[in-house]
Amino acid sequence: MNKIVIAIDGFSSTGKSTVAKLLAKELGYIYVDTGAMYRAVTYFALENNFISKENFDKEGLISELENIHITFKFNPELGFAEVYLNGKNIESDIRTLEISQYVSHVAKISEVRRKLVQQQQLMGKDKGIVMDGRDIATVVFPDAELKIFMTASAETRAIRRYKELLERGHNLSYKEVLQNVVSRDEIDSTREDSPLVKADDAIEFDNSTITIKQQLAEINKLVAEKLS
Ligand code: C5P
Repeated sequence: MNKIVIAIDGFSSTGKSTVAKLLAKELGYIYVDTGAMYRAVTYFALENNFISKENFDKEGLISELENIHITFKFNPELGFAEVYLNGKNIESDIRTLEISQYVSHVAKISEVRRKLVQQQQLMGKDKGIVMDGRDIATVVFPDAELKIFMTASAETRAIRRYKELLERGHNLSYKEVLQNVVSRDEIDSTREDSPLVKADDAIEFDNSTITIKQQLAEINKLVAEKLS
């Protein structure tokens, strides 16, 4: 059967992963959360004291990149693949505000990007993949058959992320979450290497007002067009 690559990019907490996961499930495609990969490198950097509030030892982290092995393993109970760092399941460890506060600084490093982009391209070489991130349509798969760019207001996104974190038992304020969303957008959009930009041929969805069901229906229509 004909399979395509679906690239979904956009700002933080635009609901990319929710839509991407559901879409992959419906199509029988692989779903890859590339944000989880940057978060995994950040987790490694924190665990190994390469990054802290006072200091960021970029060269130290770069020299250890060959010892960072990121894998995904499908969890049938959850219905998606969880991320592993050197064989350890870190799926819930990487979803903290602390990781969110450092990740965009780690994601600016070209050596980190090169390593992860290479792995992402390998994962998508047989197509039949839905990948979400910031540079999927522009850098990882510039030839992707379908490119989606998700936006939503910063407040909508921060409320979403805040609720998610509260549900997971994190103790934080809405203000902190909003600040993080705004600051990550700024760093991700202005970095030199692979900044977050909408690809010229991407279709934009502002999901502040439309439901997940509506988005899925729209995207499924686009997929059907591409496959026919
Ligand atoms: O998608 P998520 O919010 O988990 O991504 C975390 C961070 O990882 C982003 O804010 C960004 O700095 C980085 N990232 C990236 N390129 C990607 C995916 C994520 O730079 N393709």
